[in-house]
Amino acid sequence: QNYQSVALIVGVTGIVGSSLAEILPLSDTPGGPWKVYGLARRPRPVWNSDNPIEYIQCDISDKNDTVLKLSPLKDVTNIFYVCWANRVLESENCKINSRMFQNVLNAVIPNAPNLKHICLQTGLKHYYGPFEYWGKIEKPLEPPFSEDMPRLDVPNFYYDLEDILYEEAGKKDGGLTWSVHRPGAIFGFSPYSMMNLVGTLSVYAAICKHEGMPLRFPGLKVAWECYSQASDADLIAEHQIWAAVDPYAKNEAFNCSNGDVFKWKQLWGVLGEQFEMEVPEFEEGERVSLVEMMKGKERVWEEIVKVNNLVPTKLEEVGNWWFADSIECGVSIGYYEQEQGAWVFGV
Ligand code: NDP
Repeated sequence: QNYQSVALIVGVTGIVGSSLAEILPLSDTPGGPWKVYGLARRPRPVWNSDNPIEYIQCDISDKNDTVLKLSPLKDVTNIFYVCWANRVLESENCKINSRMFQNVLNAVIPNAPNLKHICLQTGLKHYYGPFEYWGKIEKPLEPPFSEDMPRLDVPNFYYDLEDILYEEAGKKDGGLTWSVHRPGAIFGFSPYSMMNLVGTLSVYAAICKHEGMPLRFPGLKVAWECYSQASDADLIAEHQIWAAVDPYAKNEAFNCSNGDVFKWKQLWGVLGEQFEMEVPEFEEGERVSLVEMMKGKERVWEEIVKVNNLVPTKLEEVGNWWFADSIECGVSIGYYEQEQGAWVFGV
């Protein structure tokens, strides 16, 4: 088959990587027909195996492995970078994420003469600052955020990735374009994602149901009552594909959210409906974090997987409790509640 474009999705089993792997090979996708390479560190999972992509198992934090696996890909025209490493300290995040991104670019750029465009996914933490700094930033940016707002004066691996991107694209003298995509909390499908809010809450609901516990909302009242926003993973994938093919979308950063808003109490209603559970009223009083509530539930999850004949997963893979806690009731939400009034924001 003659392909018009050749994609390399870095992080193909992640929350947006999975959407890209589904959408890019479709016959009506702009820029197509697309040949698609998809890379991740672990072996290809069964739930990813239906997508017509060439799967590459590679640890991009390892320079040699990256050169070995990526330098032979001479036909790549587009990179979709939807990958990251998560460390507690942002200084560590900066180091490891820069290394990973640079390893990929060093292996692909000199060997793929037709490389045209790189999509880099970061997120709204560009404006909030990294998790480590939530609530500690002296002069926070006031939402709603626009792409041209100045950077915060704190370390942020998103800034480092952007700088690497600008530098590498600059070396090719206009021959290589880029776009940066900044979604908020992403709603999508991936059991391998490090931040999958809907998946995590579904696992929480399944555990509550299995144990006969009420489907208690673990967040703050402000999250329950106020507006939140989200970014659909398919929408972000389509946004990146648009930027990859449209000549007017080059060398720009874009926020990317659904555009509409929701309240957590509405979303909780949907969750209850899906799991056929009653949704209790919001409970005042001290909140218990999901991290605390879900401690020691590994066996319960194993039992749920067995009874329902699910694809085997470990609880720590599918329950990103720290992330759900931080979105529904994290420091930033407490902070914005105090400072900004009605809005609750995701990362
Ligand atoms: P995910 O956590 O969903 O997926 C990460 C992907 O990268 C997986 O396929 C994973 O595969 C792969 N990966 C991780 N480390 C390596 C490695 N060393 N070598 C090869 N592959 C690796 O990613 P997201 O889409 O969530 O994150 C991408 C960016 O989007 C990040 O910067 C994140 O901060 C940002 N973002 C995410 C949001 C969200 O809600 N998820 C919200 C806003 C922004 P494997 O598991 O096999 O390692």
